[in-house]
Amino acid sequence: MPVHWQERLAELPDVLRSRSKPRTVILLGDLAIGGDEFVTIAGPCSVETKVQLLSTADRVSRAGARVLRGGAFKPRSSPYSFQGLGAEGLKLLALARERTGLAIVTEVMSECDVSLVAEYADILQIGSRNMENSTLLAAAACAGKPILLKRGMVATVTDLLRAAQCIVSYGNPNVMLCERGIRTFDTTTRNTFDAAAIAILKQVTHLPVICDPSHACGNRDLVPALARIGVSAGADGMIVEVHPAPEQAWSDGEQSLGFDGFESMVADLRPWIELNRSLRSKQSKAEQVEAMQ
Ligand code: PEP
Ligand code: MN
Repeated sequence: MPVHWQERLAELPDVLRSRSKPRTVILLGDLAIGGDEFVTIAGPCSVETKVQLLSTADRVSRAGARVLRGGAFKPRSSPYSFQGLGAEGLKLLALARERTGLAIVTEVMSECDVSLVAEYADILQIGSRNMENSTLLAAAACAGKPILLKRGMVATVTDLLRAAQCIVSYGNPNVMLCERGIRTFDTTTRNTFDAAAIAILKQVTHLPVICDPSHACGNRDLVPALARIGVSAGADGMIVEVHPAPEQAWSDGEQSLGFDGFESMVADLRPWIELNRSLRSKQSKAEQVEAMQ
């Protein structure tokens, strides 16, 4: 790791990458996140209906996704927008897991809901708007489930690592960091995808890094390009919004891929994933040689 980063991040010892701790691999059944496999997480922004969720779970699973996403508790900008199905949505996610074997990730927005969400989810998502909610971080950390921590939309990379340090310091080492775009002056896209954040995180932390090309751009036509960039920057996986009929989605339809779009994106990404895998193994061999000298 570059020395100046080591100095800047000295207050975050538990998340820093070192020779003795080059990476954290999060194990979920036969799935390893942060290992050699690029992990695809896919599903709708919100859980809406049984048919919507199960049909999406079937299709993304067949296309190679390993984790199903879907919000049951939704952070919405307007109080008049759909706020999520709550407990009913969690039950549908559990049904989809039973049917497909996919692991489940879903957002928890309040410390009051942590135990309920943890009953159903395999991974707890902490959303962008809650990255610095330390009460929620503490409660989620203590639930004993891996955590997908999304970067706050106005958070620096150091802020993200600080939030991860909080979770690890509460006794939960299984944290994945998610780059989902940040707010900048440019409103052409919903957010600005910070590819450099992925590259630097891969250098400075041992925690797995996941890219979210959907929220980063807010436009389905741009999602495949951003996914390629995420893979090339070294991400360990991606989280993508997929919906059976994106134009009718109850939230984030503009950025959701349809089934065909998702399938072709996954197929097109394969050579990029392979290339990144071989670069990574070259790099880790070089590090081993350096460590022996
Ligand atoms: C989501 O994943 O649907 C979501 C609300 O994400 P974010 O917290 O990144 O906005
Ligand atoms: Mn969404």
